[in-house]
Amino acid sequence: MRVGFIGLGNMGGPMCGHLVRAGFDVTAFDLDAAAVARLADVGARAGGSVGECARGADVLITMLPAPPHVEQVLLGEGGAIAALEPGSIAIDMSTSSTAVGARVVAAARARGVDVLDAPVAGQSIGAKAGSLAIYVGGSEAVFERARPLFEAMGDPERIFQLGGNGTGYTVKLLLNLLWFIESAAVGEVLSVGVRAGVSLDRLHEALVGSPANSVFLERDVRMVLDDGDYDEAFPMRLVTKDLGLAVDLARDVGVPVELTALVEQIHRRARAQYGDDAGEISAVRLYEDLAGVSLRLGRT
Ligand code: NAD
Repeated sequence: MRVGFIGLGNMGGPMCGHLVRAGFDVTAFDLDAAAVARLADVGARAGGSVGECARGADVLITMLPAPPHVEQVLLGEGGAIAALEPGSIAIDMSTSSTAVGARVVAAARARGVDVLDAPVAGQSIGAKAGSLAIYVGGSEAVFERARPLFEAMGDPERIFQLGGNGTGYTVKLLLNLLWFIESAAVGEVLSVGVRAGVSLDRLHEALVGSPANSVFLERDVRMVLDDGDYDEAFPMRLVTKDLGLAVDLARDVGVPVELTALVEQIHRRARAQYGDDAGEISAVRLYEDLAGVSLRLGRT
């Protein structure tokens, strides 16, 4: 199977590497020449442009920062959809919007190209390990054709076909939303508890053993509580992009989401305070600074 892969950043670089190692014939492209060179070193063909990557490919994969990049690469001047052959598949694995996705599907359909949206979860660690969860929207038949590619990049037990085009983007935006609601909530609760005089160790242990426990509280926030690591592998510029897309999604379907809008603003404040490249758990840091506490286990 000939594969074109565009977008070789923190996620796309290792994902593309897995496809090369699994034996697919891969042509890779990124605006960053050093990223292309890294993939060429592990056996990919170096593509010189979006069009060169798409021409002759059976499957074209994109892993780009945000909807404008996806639209530019797939539908813009010299874009991939116009260069793909009828019968090929375009798979966007970026966390993007259903609105751009719908425009891609319309343009692709006119050329006889099939489309899947297939965003991922699992952080850059999961991309490197080949253990990503993958959330796929699009027809079952097209999904089955693409399954070997997904299995080379993700955990076969966590590759979900969710429904028609756009459902992959929707589920990905919602799972991120829930996680970032928890991040703000846990930051708030722990900071108040410590300021009220409870030791963080006792408070954390009690909450984990309570009906209010969550994966975020028990596992994910530990990198902050144990090491002061706010996880820069997923920067706040992408966090706020995803939360903005979740607000847009809710608006598009006509559901009022006061909580989502507030949580989006909390993370925007954290980004403004600590910078675009600050780690994804920076909302917790915001509460630490507001409350004047340092949330670290093992000190009391
Ligand atoms: P990144 O910024 O590290 O990489 C994006 C790459 O796209 C860059 O190398 C950039 O040069 C390239 N690019 C941008 N415009 C281009 C164009 N017009 N043509 C060719 N290349 C172009 O981002 P990432 O962390 O790899 O994230 C990619 C997507 O995956 C995002 O949508 C993100 O929200 C999502 N995601 C990221 C993580 C994570 O932990 N980093 C986890 C899950 C999902």
